[in-house]
Amino acid sequence: MNRNILLTLLLLSLKTWAQNQPLPEKYQPLLLGEIKPTGWIKTQMRQDLQGFSGNLDRLVPDLILKDDIYGKNRLTKAIKSKDVGALGLGENDVQILWWNSETQSNWRDGFVRQAFLSGDLANQRKAKAYISHILATQDADGYLGVYAPDLRYKLTGENGELWAKASLFRVLLSYYELTKDAKTWQALLSAVDNVMVNYPINRSSPFKAEKPFAGLSHGLVFTDVLDRLHQLTGNRKYVDYALFLYRDYSKNTVSETDVQLPNILNDSYLMHGHGVHSYEHLRPLIVAYWASGADTLKEALDRYTHRINQLITPSGGPIGDEWITRQTADATQTGYEYCSIHELLHSHAVLLQKSGEPSLADAIERSFFNAAQGARHPTKSSIAYLKTDNSFAMTGTKNDGGDPKQTRYKYSPAHQDAAVCCVPNAGRIASYYVQSMWVKDADGLVANLLGPCQVSTRLGTNRVRIDETTEYPYQNNFVFTINAEKPFLLKIRKPAWVEQLTSSQAYETEGAYIKMMVKGGQTVVKLAFQTSVKQHSFAQHETFFSYGPLVYALPFAAQEAVAKSFPVAGFFDLTYRPVQAQTFRFSPGQKVDYQPSGILIEAINTKTQAVEQIRLVPMAKTILRQVTF
Ligand SMILES: [Zn+2]
Repeated sequence: MNRNILLTLLLLSLKTWAQNQPLPEKYQPLLLGEIKPTGWIKTQMRQDLQGFSGNLDRLVPDLILKDDIYGKNRLTKAIKSKDVGALGLGENDVQILWWNSETQSNWRDGFVRQAFLSGDLANQRKAKAYISHILATQDADGYLGVYAPDLRYKLTGENGELWAKASLFRVLLSYYELTKDAKTWQALLSAVDNVMVNYPINRSSPFKAEKPFAGLSHGLVFTDVLDRLHQLTGNRKYVDYALFLYRDYSKNTVSETDVQLPNILNDSYLMHGHGVHSYEHLRPLIVAYWASGADTLKEALDRYTHRINQLITPSGGPIGDEWITRQTADATQTGYEYCSIHELLHSHAVLLQKSGEPSLADAIERSFFNAAQGARHPTKSSIAYLKTDNSFAMTGTKNDGGDPKQTRYKYSPAHQDAAVCCVPNAGRIASYYVQSMWVKDADGLVANLLGPCQVSTRLGTNRVRIDETTEYPYQNNFVFTINAEKPFLLKIRKPAWVEQLTSSQAYETEGAYIKMMVKGGQTVVKLAFQTSVKQHSFAQHETFFSYGPLVYALPFAAQEAVAKSFPVAGFFDLTYRPVQAQTFRFSPGQKVDYQPSGILIEAINTKTQAVEQIRLVPMAKTILRQVTF
């Protein structure tokens, strides 16, 4: 299409968006806290609270305890530099002085959620004290943020005004939903109104800035807060404002351009952004489309999700180490960042809730059970900032090669030598999975994502409690113990890999779901999924293996070294080298067998050319490994 015609059409569609109506959402999310993890997910949250999640403030005190960035250390014109804990940034770089707000608020979001969802009373008290402190920093006009009056809403260059708020207000939303604390709710509403007064809708341009950078671009996810406030209040002003933000972002010069509307609609545009931004920016686009129902945005959403799907590795990790430098995923050459795993999971969860597209649930399970679990250290409290599916060494650099200055391919409870972004997000991801496990629809309750949990909610006046007992994804059997005052319709998603299922209760099938009427009183539903090993072709001539939702890997023995000890006892940065460097090649047709101890395959040792039988295990349990053969 001629570029001028395209631009004219775009401008016309931008004008007409505001006249459209918000679209109905397929599912209604439950309140945070109505779904609580049990089983291994709860155990892992408790371990994180004992580990990196509960101790990050002590592990990096300069970035958290010593910088009261929303309070007495708010940024003013007088401040020229600050320790932001990021490699090569901070000194004399006014652009990223907002950075500690991200570190603090993303960490708190995970911490508050984990403390309440896992029932950890001591950490709940710590969370409460923090919230009281933050609420005390609010000014009379409602302002909550990182800038003193001389800078707020007046910055003409790169700034973190909306980003520092987005990350903090997500914490306040979490805390409010978990505790129903009225003071937190009022503080949040007035803080959001303060933004709307100072950046008036359609009469201001929050994303217009000289030398725009990462913080300004992150600020677009202020729409997370607006979307949830719309759901909780029913007030359309919040999504109208979200639509305004996406429009303003699309028309300004910004550092992260992948999600800008003209670029999405341009067939020859190649994604090249900072992965985290590109994956989190899926959410503002989703919210903008549902706010307007505009055909142009539907087209954009379809195109953007299609582009992202090309960037996903077998484990579900979306590439970008940290920038997206290729248009298709690679299992060895391009890593993914822990932040990106979290952000894409969150974006997919929002799209699943609004669209009801069940393949998104399969995608979320794949990334949470494989990429996210597989980038955690299996036994020590630390995570990989960057990880590849085929991980042959974790010595700081990528598979012991590439950029010699790279430090992110290792296990750390902080990663302060790179940036303290991934550890906070590793503390958030499980609670975002949990909050999306169950939703309501017009008829009853829907289990969208599977795993051990307990749901306690109301369907109108019907009080319902469900205990979902399972080792899933490590086993595919479930017991749902349901207590309800009145009958309701229960739907349970049947993952795409299920070949057969058995249920102790009669059911009907509806698309990707089974459904059954549940009586009042107590009902026990026993459900089991049957499947077999699946072989998947990937990239060029590679094969990977899955059983149920789990992707399997060949683990390699590794030599561990302590790269750094922290002043807090028990915390280390760890690196790994293979004891013996070797890889295997699989030819389709060779023998494959499933046993409870793993997937057995016959593969060729590329060094000796001998055919060997090797045993693959879930990626979640591995450090060094081969996933594609
Ligand atoms: Zn990160």
